[in-house]
Amino acid sequence: MIPSSFEYLKASTVAEAVSALAGSDDAKVLGGGQSFIPILRLRLASPELVVDVSKVAEMRGVREDGDALVIGAMTTHHEVMHDPLVRQHAPLLASATATVADPQVRHRGTFGGALAHADPASDLPGVTLVHGATMTIVGPGGTRTVSAADFFVDYLETALAADELLTSIRLPKLGAGWGTHYEKFNRVAQAWSIVGVAAAVRRDNGHIAEARVALTNMGSTHLRATATENALAGAEATDRGVHGASQLAAEGTKPASDQNGRADYREHLAKVLTHRAVRAAAGI
Ligand SMILES: Cc1cc2nc3c(=O)[nH]c(=O)nc-3n(C[C@H](O)[C@H](O)[C@H](O)COP(=O)(O)OP(=O)(O)OC[C@H]3O[C@@H](n4cnc5c(N)ncnc54)[C@H](O)[C@@H]3O)c2cc1C
Repeated sequence: MIPSSFEYLKASTVAEAVSALAGSDDAKVLGGGQSFIPILRLRLASPELVVDVSKVAEMRGVREDGDALVIGAMTTHHEVMHDPLVRQHAPLLASATATVADPQVRHRGTFGGALAHADPASDLPGVTLVHGATMTIVGPGGTRTVSAADFFVDYLETALAADELLTSIRLPKLGAGWGTHYEKFNRVAQAWSIVGVAAAVRRDNGHIAEARVALTNMGSTHLRATATENALAGAEATDRGVHGASQLAAEGTKPASDQNGRADYREHLAKVLTHRAVRAAAGI
């Protein structure tokens, strides 16, 4: 289908984009367009103004800021997964991003666009939960920050207001002693997760000192598997220790039933994939 007609502004700065958003009652932001352009073509959205921020220089790139990485929201998936700082300090993000779609989509789609879209099947929000990331948001009232835990509100819904931009993501480094792994299950290659698990584990003397586990597609938003995390803290770093804790992975989740699988199948997958992800992250 052909989209409804709309005004188009290619912004050069954050200030220009925010001012355009504030000046319209019916504007939408365009990032890499990999999710939004199909939405326009299906006429699921018919905004009067589209503000393209994909080439705003201050919203692109990766830099180090003390104990964190700051990633511009419009940094493409391709740039993120090949960035040396990301590979060194946030390998979980690099490996999860490598599972996103195909090279064409990864060359246009962006880290911030994927987070702002808040698809529960997206592979990247779970990584921000595991890292304890903070989103930087700019709107007509100025700049504010929101933790990843508070950013994802519901299905395709975030803490962003219609006149606000996600400009960057601050990702604390996990540091020495942590191992990480992203485990994804999909029906065909280069597709969204039926279920995915992002895991980070800190080992200490044959035991698991701390574990962070986030689930993809186990509810209307991404979730931390807190029962599993609690059971892993202090557990033996053995296959048996990890297996017991993984059996709790579906606690507190509310997965959907759809053409890719029923809810109870997703619960089963969450346990199996958590076992694999935590084992790999712990180097067992
Ligand atoms: C064939 C295909 C396969 C895919 N497979 C996967 C997959 O396996 N795993 C996966 O995780 N994803 C997958 N995706 C989605 C892909 O990761 C997209 O990059 C992502 O969903 C959206 O990023 P984008 O930059 O293209 O955002 P857009 O499509 O431009 O925007 C998406 C939404 O976010 C809003 N938005 C964008 N940027 C901002 C901003 N800076 N501030 C505020 N709001 C903003 C837009 O208004 C829109 O509502 C796939 C996409 C396609 C087309």
